[in-house]
Amino acid sequence: MAKEDKAILACEVCLCRNYTTHRSKKNNGKRLELRKYCPHCGKVTLHKETK
Ligand SMILES: [Zn+2]
Repeated sequence: MAKEDKAILACEVCLCRNYTTHRSKKNNGKRLELRKYCPHCGKVTLHKETK
């Protein structure tokens, strides 16, 4: 059984967890920050990795 390293991306504005992604091993220790569309906010917002 391989452990999948999943990261959840949450909208920084409304804190909705809109996306899941795979954590890159090279990015260990660093939080992902991506600009993605948030359906709750109705616009593109900054999404940060959360557990
Ligand atoms: Zn949002």
